[in-house]
Amino acid sequence: MAHGSGWAIGGWLDREAAAVLRTALSPLAAPQPAEDGTADPRTVDQRQGDALVELARRMLGTGTLPTEGGIRPHITVTVPLTVLESRLGTGLLDFGDDTLAGAIAAEDARRLACDAHLACVVIGGRSEPLDVGRGSYTVPRHIRRALKQRDGGCAFPGCTVPAQWADAHHVAHWADGGITALSNLVLLCPRHHTLLHSSEWEVTITDGFPLFHPPPWIPGGPRRNRLHRPDLLPDG
Ligand SMILES: [Zn+2]
Ligand SMILES: [Zn+2]
Repeated sequence: MAHGSGWAIGGWLDREAAAVLRTALSPLAAPQPAEDGTADPRTVDQRQGDALVELARRMLGTGTLPTEGGIRPHITVTVPLTVLESRLGTGLLDFGDDTLAGAIAAEDARRLACDAHLACVVIGGRSEPLDVGRGSYTVPRHIRRALKQRDGGCAFPGCTVPAQWADAHHVAHWADGGITALSNLVLLCPRHHTLLHSSEWEVTITDGFPLFHPPPWIPGGPRRNRLHRPDLLPDG
């Protein structure tokens, strides 16, 4: 049921169906404490809602769902280049159902366009789709493979999400002239991708590997994720 800017779901499942769904959601709905140990602020319902979306996101990413009208199911973000550059204004999120299409904030459009493995239509000055000329804003397969090799999973400190479920985040956004190369990319799970786009956490590629810089009020200084590739990471 569409309501305002969201969508309400509810209903009953029989015992077996509930067992299947709860089994699939359980690992995705686990509390995720912050890197400094702060408890996950989400309620159980919120975590299960997030887990259901994550389940669908991962399934969409596999490309194994049946086609509709000859194309794989996908969501599309349409956004003017000026919105990506200025961080002002809105983009449009469209997922095949006009009643649900809606405006999204510039910062969310920047995040969704950052690793445009979902269809991202960028509109240039005269409203023409800009799919060339701005460099490649989709990450080519060989670069994605090298990135998975280097980071091994979400590179955010303490995060255990494996590489196949992570986005390629541009350290300098391609809309700001950042290049799509290993030296400007970091693997991030959806949760930490959102954190990097919506908070004062910053990431650099230092000595060839991602280094995360917390906001000034979080003690401890810059840090790395040592869970995926401890064999490769430099000290510090
Ligand atoms: Zn990003
Ligand atoms: Zn993560």
